[in-house]
Order: sequence, then structure tokens, then C-alpha cells
Amino acid sequence: MSTDESPPPGDDEERYRRLLDETEYDTELGLEMGRDAQRVSAGELSELEFYRRYHDRIVEEFDIDDREIDLPDPDEADPDDVGFLDRIGSALEGVDPESDESRRSVMKKGTAAAGALAVGGWGTAQNAAGQDDGSGGAAGGGGEGEGTRWGMTINLNNCDGCLACMVACNQEHNLSRGANWMYVFAFEDEGQGDETNFLPRTCQHCTDSPCTKVCPVGARHTREEDGLVLTDYDICIGCRYCEVSCPYGVNYFQWGEPDVPESEVDDDHQIDDRGRWVGSRPPEGVMGKCTFCVDRQDGQMGEEKIGTTACEEACTMDAVHFGDLNDPESAPNQHLSQYRDGQENDRSEFPNRKEHTVSTFKLMEERGTEPNVTFVGNEPSPHAEQVEGPVAYEDMGLTDNRKEVLDEGAAATQGGESA
Ligand code: SF4
Ligand code: SF4
Ligand code: SF4
Repeated sequence: MSTDESPPPGDDEERYRRLLDETEYDTELGLEMGRDAQRVSAGELSELEFYRRYHDRIVEEFDIDDREIDLPDPDEADPDDVGFLDRIGSALEGVDPESDESRRSVMKKGTAAAGALAVGGWGTAQNAAGQDDGSGGAAGGGGEGEGTRWGMTINLNNCDGCLACMVACNQEHNLSRGANWMYVFAFEDEGQGDETNFLPRTCQHCTDSPCTKVCPVGARHTREEDGLVLTDYDICIGCRYCEVSCPYGVNYFQWGEPDVPESEVDDDHQIDDRGRWVGSRPPEGVMGKCTFCVDRQDGQMGEEKIGTTACEEACTMDAVHFGDLNDPESAPNQHLSQYRDGQENDRSEFPNRKEHTVSTFKLMEERGTEPNVTFVGNEPSPHAEQVEGPVAYEDMGLTDNRKEVLDEGAAATQGGESA
């Protein structure tokens, strides 16, 4: 999958065009910005150039430009660099990125009729399948960074496709049917025998996330203290630009009334430490995705739940490991080092586990998004084909909105929407 000039993401431009056409916002702007945001992450376009390229059009469309962009600070201009202020000047004029009030004043244009699109592309990287990425840690830092950085190690050799993680996530976050913040792909792959393989996929909580770069109102943002990529439900206007910019297809737009009404959702689990509404399922007309169980991380479910997730807790196969990537003793780092030490996979207790492999990878790492999820196991190749898993979604009370893509024969990690 190429990183240059590919439509956002990969080969699904037409799907994304249809998806954006269903909103009342500028489709071309969303498509172009999504593509360029991926180029920024890939290091092919500077943040400043990206900001300037779209600033006027965004203000025209949304009356504000509150994107999370890492712009140079005018106060730190090199006095010898006489062109500095000129270069950033017009891009920064008239925008107060701190103003919550200005974000909230953006008119919600509402959304058009519900659709049933399934969109997206495989989360496969270009490096050879089964090769260690050599990153030296769950997110490349080897557990030595400062502060907290939540992340995961997911062991594909251990996953048997039982879907328990999906059910747990859906229940804990009151998700509407079809909104699968955790999604387990069952696939067969060339060179990996006839075995069915499984890839549980959450939001990757990318350190250099395209989705935060395109959100015109600043609803999609990175939480500074721990790196969580969250959506402020109060601010999101439902333009779906984040969805088309994400290479991983993990966003779910809440079209209609959520299945679980507001009255049945625990208020305490929705508002984070900063007073922003980022937890549980989104309201109508708003984008949702995996939050890495933000309410747990904020201690709203008790001290003992900090550093855990519902999907990890539900996994009886020991496939999902969540924790602070900056802590060498955390579950994801410990699990990685265990496997790097060449520990054999214990199949006596878990016969469904696959043979041990020390290969690790991150999804689409070559795109520069710096995912905070590392996988142990063999990476799906570009020839991987999605197949029916051993457990049917319907049998678990789940709905798979990706069937449409599966039926078209595409191997996909697309997002979707809940009815
Ligand atoms: S995986 Fe998550 S953080 Fe990364 S671009 Fe997609 S939505 Fe954003
Ligand atoms: S978070 Fe909401 S407002 Fe921001 S890009 Fe996504 S859909 Fe649009
Ligand atoms: S980390 Fe939490 S929100 Fe994300 S998939 Fe797992 S249970 Fe769902």
C-alpha cells in the first residue's frame, strides 16, 4: 500500500466520497485534507504548509479553523530568519486556538439520511510479513519515555476469534449495534497455511494521528497527559473528516438515536478529568471510536481499573495487554519482552493458540502515524483475505457492518456507522 498520493485511505476514495456526500459539509475539502493529513504524518508535507493550504477553505466552510496542528511558535522565531513571520503570518491570523467558545459557536449543519456504507482499507504495513520491526518497545520507546503513554500489545498467536473482547467493549461503552470499537478480523493468508488468523483491532491512538489534523473544530484531539486520542462529543459537528483521514478505519458515526438512551448511561463515566465529554457512546450525529477506556484510565471505575481495559479483561486467551508504554514493567512491555526472549507459547492449557513467533509489527507503520498498538504474530500480507470466523457476530449479539466489503471480496478494516 503506497504512502504517496493515495486517496484517504488506500484505494477507497469512492467509498469515502459517498460517505462525505451524506453530510452537508464540503466533500472535496474532506477528501483532499484527509489525503494531505496522511502525507503530513508520512513526513511528505510540513504541518505549516498543511495548515496554510486549507486554512481559508476551512474558515469559509466552518467559520473557524481549530485543527490540532503543531505550528511554529512566532515567539520562538530566529531573529536571523527574516521570512519566518511572513511564512506563518497569514495562516495564523484571526484564529484563537484556545477558544472553546468559538468552537461551540460553530453551527451544526446536521446530517443527511442514514447510509450503510462500509469503508476503509487493510491495516497492513509494507515491511515483510513476519519481520520484527526492531522498534525495541511496544511503541518504539522501550518503556523509557516521560509521563504516561497508554498503549497495547496484542498477541495474534493467542487470539482464537471468540469475540469476547468485542462484546465486553460494546457493553461497557453502551455502543449501538454495528458500532464495533473493537473489531476482530478473521483472515486467511498466503504462506500462513490453511489456518484462520485473527486480528483484533482498536483505534491505534496514533502519536502522529491524521484524524486530529483534519478536525476543523478541534473535537478530535490528543490528550496531552497520556496520549489518548479522543473526541469531544460536545464539539463534534459530524463532518466525518476524521473518518476519511484515518488509515485504520476505526471511526463509527452515530447516525440515529443511540440504542442506549442518555438516561441509562452513567454520567460519571462520560466526562473526563478536564470536564470534556469524551467517554461512553457518542450522541446522535457525532463520531465515536475506541477511547482506550478513558473512564477507567481516569479512575472513574475505581483505582484498580486504571491501566486496564474492558477488552483486555474479557480476553481469556491472554491476547490483549494494556498499560503505560513508558513503564518497562507494564503489561504490554512485559508481554513483548517475554516473547522477545523466545518463550514458547504454552498450548497445553490453550490448545487454540498458534505456534510461538517472535515477530512483531505495527499496522501501517510506514505511514508515520506512530501507532501505540504493537502486535505479536505474523502480519497480514496484502494478499490476506477476510473470511468468516469460528464465532458468528450475530451469535454474540453483534452486527458486522463490514459484510458489504467482505462480499465485494476486499480484505478490509473499514469503519462504518451505527444505525
Ligand atoms: S487509528 Fe485512531 S488515532 Fe490513528 S488516525 Fe485512526 S482514529 Fe486517529
Ligand atoms: S470529530 Fe467530529 S467535527 Fe471533528 S472531524 Fe470528526 S466528525 Fe468532524
Ligand atoms: S480499549 Fe476499551 S474502548 Fe478500546 S476496544 Fe478495548 S474495550 Fe473498547
